[in-house]
Amino acid sequence: MIKVDFNRPITVGNEFEYMRQAMQNVHISGDGAFTKKCHAFLESELGVNKALLTTSCTHALEMSAILLDIKPGDEVIIPDFTFVSTVNAFVLRGAKPVFVDVRPDTLSLDESKLEAAITPRTRAIVPVHYAGVGCEMDSIMDIAKRHKIAVVEDNAHGLFGKYKGKFLGTFGSLATQSFHETKNFSCGEGGALLINDPFLAERAEIVREKGTNRSRFFRGQVDKYTWVDIGSSYLPSDLLAAFLYAQFEQREKIQSHRKNVWNMYDVALKDWADKNGVQLPTIPEDREQAYHMFYMLLPNLDLRQKLIMYLRERGIYSVFHYLPLHLSDMGQSFGYSAGDCPVTEQVSDRLIRLPFYNDLTSADQEQVIDTIMEFNFQ
Ligand SMILES: *Cc1c(COP(=O)(O)O)cnc(C)c1O
Repeated sequence: MIKVDFNRPITVGNEFEYMRQAMQNVHISGDGAFTKKCHAFLESELGVNKALLTTSCTHALEMSAILLDIKPGDEVIIPDFTFVSTVNAFVLRGAKPVFVDVRPDTLSLDESKLEAAITPRTRAIVPVHYAGVGCEMDSIMDIAKRHKIAVVEDNAHGLFGKYKGKFLGTFGSLATQSFHETKNFSCGEGGALLINDPFLAERAEIVREKGTNRSRFFRGQVDKYTWVDIGSSYLPSDLLAAFLYAQFEQREKIQSHRKNVWNMYDVALKDWADKNGVQLPTIPEDREQAYHMFYMLLPNLDLRQKLIMYLRERGIYSVFHYLPLHLSDMGQSFGYSAGDCPVTEQVSDRLIRLPFYNDLTSADQEQVIDTIMEFNFQ
């Protein structure tokens, strides 16, 4: 019996009303009224040059690879500890992934190992703001500029997080967001591409609309619409945009609830963690996190597995994630082997994510915390 699930999608406001309105507008394909509202919201809240909703973060990453003209033989630098889509989008264009290990504190790309991974063939660096805590962006941007390499931020976890007062997703030429069911703001499946480099904006519209200049046609900027580039269909239905916009409207409510959940775990588990050699998340002083998840690093794989089983037997669902990409079948096919990214290898064994969602009640959360504190480490 499930008492506390790991994740649960909920509606927070006008989701159904806006979907009804989208129907009433007689426009439920892409780029309707609600899609435009979502674009305007992201552009004004984040201060980005252009935002485009996509069918997923995976597809926004694929668009990034196309926009950067990634070709076979190019190398792309990816943190080893991330979701497969971060790397797959570039491998689809023929790139060779170059995995860089992560920092043991924030579990994001270790900037001190970045420069050594760069070669004349490096075309992009794709930092992932793990758990919505910003990467070391000053160092990463500085290295990228010196070597004239594009940066694409995988900001799936980090919407509204900040690094030194600046929103995550506003540093790289491009950045990608996810609105998957498991993320802070959701429409089931969805994403966005943030375009900070204005030179990529027009082509982004074309790639997203099957390689056609349809967007310009609708704006009356060209008198016919035609095939002008490669592309695919990366725009979501306006029904999904309507659902998502209702969630955007509740930004304060969603983020403040998530902040409370995160802080409650952090405060309640601190002494227990110190006593038992469990590492809680590190949030550097100069960063505002996005409150995407609460994770802990257990002392070893055996204890992590035991804790997950122990919680499950008591109706509480926790999960672990990210097997080291370099040790996957695909990673090994690119020549990687055990020992290449030692921090990721051990973090991946030790990490557990606790129940975390937009209507997790404090009663349920207390139950999770109390149960964890009764776990026997022997
Ligand atoms: C969720 C996630 C993605 C993929 O998002 P989708 O919208 O499901 O395609 C990519 N990268 C990271 C880091 C993620 O957490």
